[in-house]
Amino acid sequence: MNTQAHVLIVEDEPKLAALLRDYLVAAGCRVSVLGRGDGAVEWVRRHAPDAILLDISLPGADGLSICRGVRAFSSLPILMVTARVEEIDRLLGLELGADDYICKPFSPREVVARVKAVLRRAAHAAAPSATQAIVLDEERFEVRVHGRPLVLTPSEFRLLRKLSSQPGRVFSRSQLIGALYEDHRVVSERTVDSHVKNLRRKLDEVGVDPIAAVYGVGYRFEPPGQGDASEPSTP
Ligand code: CA
Repeated sequence: MNTQAHVLIVEDEPKLAALLRDYLVAAGCRVSVLGRGDGAVEWVRRHAPDAILLDISLPGADGLSICRGVRAFSSLPILMVTARVEEIDRLLGLELGADDYICKPFSPREVVARVKAVLRRAAHAAAPSATQAIVLDEERFEVRVHGRPLVLTPSEFRLLRKLSSQPGRVFSRSQLIGALYEDHRVVSERTVDSHVKNLRRKLDEVGVDPIAAVYGVGYRFEPPGQGDASEPSTP
């Protein structure tokens, strides 16, 4: 990280908060810690950190209401921390607008990697890109990758549109099912996987790989950077 990123940890277990703080400081971040949920939204409004590591179960106010409260005025990266892996599906369904989900127990190393990843994505989203690598033409149902047209099926197009509508956000398979067909037919989650597989193969053939599988959860879109290999030189 070039400039020191300011990360807020909202966590009521002091040992865990201290451990995370130490790792993040070692990774070059500036860290603030809140041990309660109440007042957290106001704190964020006042101090505008670069990312939040947000425990769900907190005294005062829970992580869900804090996430909603922050999203009302800011798109800063939020990583939700939960003690139960089964809860992640429910959280995704709530559409809180969180950027990532981490399940306890976790390795602090992994948390640092995830924090760095959301900070990178946020920096990328904020940076003005001269040429967008992937452009969706809604009217013509057409996709251009680095200016070259790419033929997709309607389902693949809708899938790409849904994923790329919120770069970095993780979509569950059940959320993507709704995007596949306009007639809302009932399909299995495997159908989503096979459409994603075909879509990724087509994108890979033109030199981009913007769709990442999130193990056990679903998929997310990460916009290809300008440094990507297949960026054509300007004529
Ligand atoms: Ca807790």
